[in-house]
Amino acid sequence: DDMTIFNISSLLKEMINFMYPRFVVESIKVDQEIKKNLFVKGVEEQIKQVVLNIMNNAVEELSEFCGDRQIRVEAGLDGEYIYVDIINNGRKIPSHIIDSIFEPFISTKELGTGLGLSVCKQIIEKHEGEISVSTTEEETSFRFTLPKAEG
Ligand code: ADP
Ligand code: MG
Repeated sequence: DDMTIFNISSLLKEMINFMYPRFVVESIKVDQEIKKNLFVKGVEEQIKQVVLNIMNNAVEELSEFCGDRQIRVEAGLDGEYIYVDIINNGRKIPSHIIDSIFEPFISTKELGTGLGLSVCKQIIEKHEGEISVSTTEEETSFRFTLPKAEG
């Protein structure tokens, strides 16, 4: 696995473009507020996987949601770390799931593996970052952080 320094702002935009056909099919409006030229050090393919797993869950949640469907992607700097927030509106995640959401095999989906978020946690922690979730009646937000690198 090759560690490089890469532009995570560009990666996020690339992933949004990659997902775009699904956003259109599911009538999801996407907003982005991504600070330009945020650099991190790591395995780019693995960080892509993290973003895709979180976005996939957001789309899967919204596909069951009757209302205006929205995803927002934000990224910026917080001291020595970059943060990425991937937020979807929809239903609040029940507390019995929230408490173990990053553990393997936790799924509420008929055909879910429950592996997506546990893989995200493993990857982010290997990159010396953190991942967390918060959920309200209005929206669910996943945040991961990574140490910033110089571009
Ligand atoms: P899977 O998608 O295979 O079920 P994940 O590890 O990706 O496994 O997610 C675990 C569980 O967390 C999901 O089954 C779902 O209950 C919950 N979850 C994850 N992301 C969201 C989200 N954006 N909104 C609501 N629930 C979510
Ligand atoms: Mg998933």
